[in-house]
Amino acid sequence: MTLFAARMKDVKPSATFKYDAAAKKPGVINLTIGRPGFDTPGVIKEAAKRALDEGKVHYTASKGIPELREAIAAKLERENNIKGIDAEKIVVSGGGKQILYCILTALAGNGDVVAIPNPSWVSYEAQIRLAGAEVAWLKLNPEDGFIPGDEFLTALEYSKAKLLILNSPANPTGAVIPERIIKEIMNICEDRGIYVISDEVYEKLIYEGRHYSPASEYENVITVNAFSKTYSMTGWRLGYCACTDRAVIEKIEIVHQQSLSCCTSFAQYGALASFTKEAEDAMVRMREELRTRRDYVMKRLSELDVICKKPGGAFYVFPYFRDVDDYELADRLLRRGVAVIPGSAFGTQGRGCIRISYGGADIRELSQAFDRITGD
Ligand code: PMP
Ligand code: GLU
Repeated sequence: MTLFAARMKDVKPSATFKYDAAAKKPGVINLTIGRPGFDTPGVIKEAAKRALDEGKVHYTASKGIPELREAIAAKLERENNIKGIDAEKIVVSGGGKQILYCILTALAGNGDVVAIPNPSWVSYEAQIRLAGAEVAWLKLNPEDGFIPGDEFLTALEYSKAKLLILNSPANPTGAVIPERIIKEIMNICEDRGIYVISDEVYEKLIYEGRHYSPASEYENVITVNAFSKTYSMTGWRLGYCACTDRAVIEKIEIVHQQSLSCCTSFAQYGALASFTKEAEDAMVRMREELRTRRDYVMKRLSELDVICKKPGGAFYVFPYFRDVDDYELADRLLRRGVAVIPGSAFGTQGRGCIRISYGGADIRELSQAFDRITGD
């Protein structure tokens, strides 16, 4: 008899956190973890402090304080053109990660198949396996800038998936999927009765192209978002999902309620202030700085023999070094004082790639990092 639950069998620790921990050594430039290194906008911090001073220290409504859910519903209509969402059709949970966990626990189980892009963010596979379900990997290629093509669409069409996780802009590639292609994917999902989880946590960090939310035109969608990346609030742990189908939301809420009860009270009041002009202006300034970094990183990558189409969003690049063992490459770079994540951690299509996160390193650090990468 083993002490551990069967569901733990194929679940690995998070590679992003593992490599981030390994990078925390003096002199190492850390390009591992996906986070913006900026401070949270002052208006958000002030609102959270005020909430503490006002004694807002108790449990809140499980799904989140009503004001925050109302503000999210209004945002989804105004910015994402998603209609039919009100405060009752939203659950606020402990970050994008926790809300995804609640969704997958509520919707996927033994015998179910969940389709995800290959490569994709490390926690999709782990959470699907924790739910007891199977993964169907849909291939993306470096030559196409990791934008879904025919191979992806055919694999989706012939998969036995009941759920698909879509992610644009994408982790680990930074790819922004054009609206036309999202619609092709959605049409297949509609035909095949596949429900879609649209992970839009990087929606505002786009440098080329436009964000498109499939829930603006399709019903079979749960939209996922978080405050983490947009307002540099990764430590606050607040994310949410929205769906026009109340029955779906009710099931997700049960998992959230029975595991977390509610999110941190004063953090929610802080997040409410993210819907202000001050916070939006701070986000735009951050995005401009990230764009400068992305352009710099692309320029330095052009000195190397890699395939790397310019990614339109997020704060990642995912260069392909062809026949290289990416685990060995990451180790070699760490010995040179640059920490990155091996591409294979994100799926087999990440073989020969490394993920560079430029969210937490300024131009000076990036310049030093590339001097070390390109140096003999
Ligand atoms: N989705 C994607 C694609 C991510 O990269 C991340 C990583 N931060 C998350 C969801 C979860 O974000 P958080 O839990 O920090 O809100
Ligand atoms: N999503 C970020 C990353 O990919 C943060 C760490 C995590 O949640 O995995 O690095």
